[in-house]
Amino acid sequence: MYCEKCGDIKSASVHGYFFGDRLLEDVYFEFDLVDGHVVNVRTEESAAAYMDDLNEAKWLKVAAECNQDELDGGCEGLRCIACHKPTVWMSKEEYEDQ
Ligand SMILES: [Zn+2]
Repeated sequence: MYCEKCGDIKSASVHGYFFGDRLLEDVYFEFDLVDGHVVNVRTEESAAAYMDDLNEAKWLKVAAECNQDELDGGCEGLRCIACHKPTVWMSKEEYEDQ
């Protein structure tokens, strides 16, 4: 993946609102990208206490599928973990082509 501000990145996050609606508003799910696949999905650290009250395993699974869909669809819903901006593309080439 490629971030407009940070360059090549191997991790990104997606807003839980995409698949959990109000329940996951303001919770971001982070993941790493390895060989085009979403791996190591986790909730951001600041949401740990909140997730204790939910079925975190279930939501991590949903988040993994959502993130893979976002990757395949061009990363529109993804956010850069480092700069927190939605400036993520699948590749530098894709970014330069737009
Ligand atoms: Zn960035």
